[in-house]
Amino acid sequence: MRTRLVAGNWKMHGSLPENATLLRAVRDGVADLQTSRVAVCVSFPYLYQAQQALAGSRVAWGAQTVSQHAKGAFTGEVSAAMLREFGCTYVIVGHSERRTLFAEDDATVAAKFAAAVGAGLTPILCMGETQQQRDAGVTQTTVLTQLTAVIDHCGIGALGQAALAYEPLWAIGTGRTATPEQAQEVHAFLRTCIASRDAVLAQEVPILYGGSVKAANARDLFAMPDIDGGLVGGAALVGEEFVAICRSADRLTG
Ligand code: PEP
Repeated sequence: MRTRLVAGNWKMHGSLPENATLLRAVRDGVADLQTSRVAVCVSFPYLYQAQQALAGSRVAWGAQTVSQHAKGAFTGEVSAAMLREFGCTYVIVGHSERRTLFAEDDATVAAKFAAAVGAGLTPILCMGETQQQRDAGVTQTTVLTQLTAVIDHCGIGALGQAALAYEPLWAIGTGRTATPEQAQEVHAFLRTCIASRDAVLAQEVPILYGGSVKAANARDLFAMPDIDGGLVGGAALVGEEFVAICRSADRLTG
């Protein structure tokens, strides 16, 4: 049985006082969970705060992007080794907002994934199709292209140190969640693609669903056989809601 993971993506939200309240709510709200892993991915300036608030708890923390470069003249960038210094376990790579708003192509995402793995971080690799791509029937081709770019660059074994996240763009921040069946279909497809290269790894790699996950729909999504948790945006900013999502994942484990 794969361990479930629920990761919050706070995006560019928060302030020191707001975060203090939210971090405490998450830390205390999931303290008694048995099996599921929980993480919050915060903006760079708040990593130290997350580290101080969460160290020793069952909540891990991480960042929302990382440089593909190890060091050097890359003004404004943050390396994977720097994230490790702040105790990060996770880093999101290839989020659709990075791909579309910051022109990160598959090659860049693959390089960032490699940098994360190289520094001992667990990348959460996001993949997903637009509404137009879904309507055109190219959902599977789209996510396979995104996945293959990483496998070709890093090797299939690197997925053993990663989580995947299926995040259809039409569901992110829209309130339009994929149905459990729609998400399951893509998750199963991704797992089959991985199995064609490494059957054992395919069974081990967690595949999260992201796109308007809320307390009200988390349980049905996480009940699907290939959905191993969630990457949660908006609902991760509300302590009670995020904790309820994490608790849904935990109840289904074991
Ligand atoms: C996300 O940003 O990764 C996300 C899934 O957002 P939301 O839950 O708000 O759709």
